[in-house]
Amino acid sequence: MVQFALPVADIPSVEIYETSTRFAVRRIFCVGRNYADHAREMGNDPDREPPFFFSKPADAVVDDGVILPYPPQTKNLHHEAELVVAIGVAGVDINAEQALGHVWGYATGNDLTRRDMQAKAKDMRRPWDMSKGFDNSAICGALHPVSVVGHPMRGRITAHVDGDLRQDGDIGDMIWPVADVIAYLSRSVALAAGDLIFTGTPAGVGPIGRGESCTIAIDGLSSVTTTFV
Ligand code: MN
Repeated sequence: MVQFALPVADIPSVEIYETSTRFAVRRIFCVGRNYADHAREMGNDPDREPPFFFSKPADAVVDDGVILPYPPQTKNLHHEAELVVAIGVAGVDINAEQALGHVWGYATGNDLTRRDMQAKAKDMRRPWDMSKGFDNSAICGALHPVSVVGHPMRGRITAHVDGDLRQDGDIGDMIWPVADVIAYLSRSVALAAGDLIFTGTPAGVGPIGRGESCTIAIDGLSSVTTTFV
């Protein structure tokens, strides 16, 4: 048996809808610019680009209903409403036709972004790690197993800040649907059970202020609310 010098850290995990069992998180991947209207609002041409990926640390994951400190090093924290896919079956070079067989479940997520820091990173050709992968940056609601919820192909996705509607899209408008996202990602990394994929956000991203609450909702899944103080 391996002996560790220091106590082993808690295993990051997300809630599973209506059970006390949790889903252990291995890694967190995110898709950039997967809705045409959001790609355009960020100044890009959605027709030209294959999906690209970035990641967040597994321990950046946060449950529904948590009160968080407003993150440091930003004056422009943004919400990004996203469908989250949980991988249950490992695979490499997965065909799009078989990709949904690797999915364990789905959740509603908020890909928190320090937008001012990201803009500077883009200008200076620096990596996005600090603007995307900071502490508590991967908000994820309860996971709904495929055995219960199936594979949601369309449905309204919204973000509200203090009750004010900010994002209003449909997950059916993804440029690269979930099956394609999994297929592409599995060409770059070996996907495994416990991996989460945040699948991109529609238009309307914007700031969350101190003292405000942000709620992300997707038809058929649990919503997820976070408050910043
Ligand atoms: Mn995003």
